[in-house]
Amino acid sequence: CGVFGVYAPEQAVAKLTYFGLYALQHRGQESAGIATFEGDKVHLHKDMGLVSQVFNESMLSTMPGHLAVGHTRYSTTGSSRVVNAQPAVVETRLGSLALTHNGNLVNTETLRQELLQNNFNLVTTTDSELAAFAIAEAINSGKDWLEGTISALHRCQGAFSFVIGTPSGIIGVRDPNGIRPLVIGVIPSPDETTPERYVLSSETCGLDIIGAEFLRDVEPGELVWISEAGLASFPWAPQPQRKLCIFEMIYFARPDSVMSKESLYSYRMRIGRQLAQESPIDADIVIAVPDSGIPAAIGFSQASGIPYAEGLIKNRYVGRTFIQPTQSMREAGIRMKLNPLRDVLEGKRVIIVDDSIVRGTTSRKIVKALRDAGATEVHMRISSPPVTHPCFYGIDTDNQDQLIAATKSVAEIAEQIEVDSLAYLSWEGMLIATREDPNSFCSACFTGDYPIAIPEPVKRSKLR
Ligand code: 5GP
Ligand code: SF4
Ligand code: MG
Repeated sequence: CGVFGVYAPEQAVAKLTYFGLYALQHRGQESAGIATFEGDKVHLHKDMGLVSQVFNESMLSTMPGHLAVGHTRYSTTGSSRVVNAQPAVVETRLGSLALTHNGNLVNTETLRQELLQNNFNLVTTTDSELAAFAIAEAINSGKDWLEGTISALHRCQGAFSFVIGTPSGIIGVRDPNGIRPLVIGVIPSPDETTPERYVLSSETCGLDIIGAEFLRDVEPGELVWISEAGLASFPWAPQPQRKLCIFEMIYFARPDSVMSKESLYSYRMRIGRQLAQESPIDADIVIAVPDSGIPAAIGFSQASGIPYAEGLIKNRYVGRTFIQPTQSMREAGIRMKLNPLRDVLEGKRVIIVDDSIVRGTTSRKIVKALRDAGATEVHMRISSPPVTHPCFYGIDTDNQDQLIAATKSVAEIAEQIEVDSLAYLSWEGMLIATREDPNSFCSACFTGDYPIAIPEPVKRSKLR
């Protein structure tokens, strides 16, 4: 999911949030929503669909306010229905709160049971709404916004980047491991009388689009409070330890977003080079599976000296295939999405680079399309290791039995997707290329080494 928040009384906050969400559209395409606070009053609009389908100019103009939060959703818990769209708005003793969440809680059942005992009306089915009710419960027991939120955070286990609107300010939070990203931006003051204003966004591309400057990440285990007084920081977790999702770096986040001190384009190009060094092969051209494979393919081409070409043209208006919920929709999506270029491919030995193989369904279709367009050899290179384990922290990599590398060797996968050769990036190569401490990343979908404990029944639901 994508989360966004902005405090700026002198600006059209709904519109800024709309643009922010537009830049975060790749993080979720099922539903979109914005809540603005006008004094104590909340204006909420959310619906199924893309940001551009859910909002229009006239609707945004009916959402005044001094602050706003917004969300783009793809479901990992809870079904794909409008009641599950966010922001989740809940009433408290101190007024409404509007919560947006990126990530996935792992202790949902315990939390649900506890909250049910206190008679909360749990309308929807998401873990995010449970978090909103946990905060409301703490507020209603007499705590203020910050104390109440922090005490509720101690009840949440799993991955969470929250952006929460309240009548008096915006709360931004990352879990103690900082699994999902969240960044702070500054809107420079336009004149002497107006102070600088602050923005929260899942990724820096959400700051760029509204002309905000990247200040810093919200740190793992940090809570920030953005209000009329500016930005205040409250470390809330006793032992934060960064475990940023490596899949954000490899695939999920936009290449123009900055993470770990550089654009992800640079990181992805570097792992492409690393891949060429680890698993070279002679061929005539290097092509990418667009868009996610492009930077790694360019890196592969640079390191191998084999020319880069465009062999597949993507229809940019078809959403990410994996976000669509059913397998049959997914297969239809793939046919809609990519078209091979016969003039480029005919008679060529082709290296095709992609960021990941999850189920293997995309890859198999692409290989067939390349051969149908005249490629004489197809060598696949993947800029991440084999995905062998499901994610419990907010990326929908499916149950383990859907993951092709959970049961098959690289040779068997090569046979199934009908390539002449197949190689994956090494796990070490992936981490060393970050130029950061390798221990500061989660890479559990490649190893099964989950940094946040997962309750047994939850584990069993996705593991073979
Ligand atoms: P597959 O061959 O596994 O069907 O699809 C791999 C391609 O789809 C890659 O280009 C990857 O970007 C994307 N993809 C498909 N499903 C998922 C998924 O569940 N998670 C992630 N991270 N990427 C996926
Ligand atoms: Fe990211 Fe994989 Fe960890 Fe999930 S398991 S948070 S996808 S690295
Ligand atoms: Mg892809």
